[in-house]
Amino acid sequence: MISVPSPANPLAERASSTPGGPTEQDPGGPTEQEWSAAVAAIRAAGPTGRVLLMCHVLPDGDALGSMLGFGLALRRGSEARIQATFPGTTDLPPSLREMPGQELLVPADRAWTDPDLVLCFDVASDSRLGPLAGRLATAPSIVVDHHASNTRFGQIHLVDPHAAATSVVVEGLLDRLGFGVDQQVAECLYIALVTDTGSFRFDMTTPAVHQMAARLLATGIRPADISRRLFDSRPFGAVQLFGEVLRRAVLEPDSAGGRGLVWTYATLADLERYDQQPYVLEALIDSVRCTIEADMACVLKQVGETSWAVSMRSKGGVDVSRVATALGGGGHRLAAGFTGQGEVSEVIAAIRAEVR
Ligand code: MN
Repeated sequence: MISVPSPANPLAERASSTPGGPTEQDPGGPTEQEWSAAVAAIRAAGPTGRVLLMCHVLPDGDALGSMLGFGLALRRGSEARIQATFPGTTDLPPSLREMPGQELLVPADRAWTDPDLVLCFDVASDSRLGPLAGRLATAPSIVVDHHASNTRFGQIHLVDPHAAATSVVVEGLLDRLGFGVDQQVAECLYIALVTDTGSFRFDMTTPAVHQMAARLLATGIRPADISRRLFDSRPFGAVQLFGEVLRRAVLEPDSAGGRGLVWTYATLADLERYDQQPYVLEALIDSVRCTIEADMACVLKQVGETSWAVSMRSKGGVDVSRVATALGGGGHRLAAGFTGQGEVSEVIAAIRAEVR
């Protein structure tokens, strides 16, 4: 998870490398007591309850898909009234605008202040909820997540660090509630799963992940359409912008303890010149991190005059979560981020110093 409080950090929680494997202090998945407590709390919300679903700022496919997939299943399986929300801008990137369940979404400032039950999805720390974190004190709360770094905020924890995506935990919860997975729910959970496994390429792509994908595909959803929408759609201006930004990439074979560092940056002026929105830059790191001569990759995305959202990836030689934490951010071992201050050269120098 990225614990950067700045809502301007577009790295969000998408791990373009891997969500990170189990760690030594890994608490394991939810206990039977935790599952039962969650099921009881959802049933206790009762037929007329108001259930508030929340996910993290700048939601990615896993956050939004887990939240809306659960919301749609709850709507079909109960009489509960449901709102789904997240802090900050309600403007979703085009890749997520066609996800089923958008009708459940409300802006954060219109979300119930006194819900009967709160569920959080893919939120590793309540700092990622912005002003919505206050809702956790107003009602029983269930935290559904898969980050090993989850801070255990809230009351009932369904946190499974072995799960490749939060939607894996959601599927387990729906199963225990006896709620079916129809095509709309399946599409949400599938988007979540392909997002966090990098289309089944990352470390946590286990047999169980493929089995879950098979169950979801069996509902009749169309994986080619979903993948094209999610990963393979970009305005022409963004294609040209990528060309310019990639041409200025720098390879430093001797950095990162000789493992190699590759980096580039994109400014607000770049975005303006090509008439592009900041979200298009989220995919940029994937075009940089493929550099075989470098273990570590960085992309600096300007978010203010001297402020940069920094995305970092590693192939395994460098623990970028340690680097990010040292520089005020956070993340996973192979995918992390922080907000850097100063000129590009100063931010890169700070990174270089951390990986010497
Ligand atoms: Mn996730």
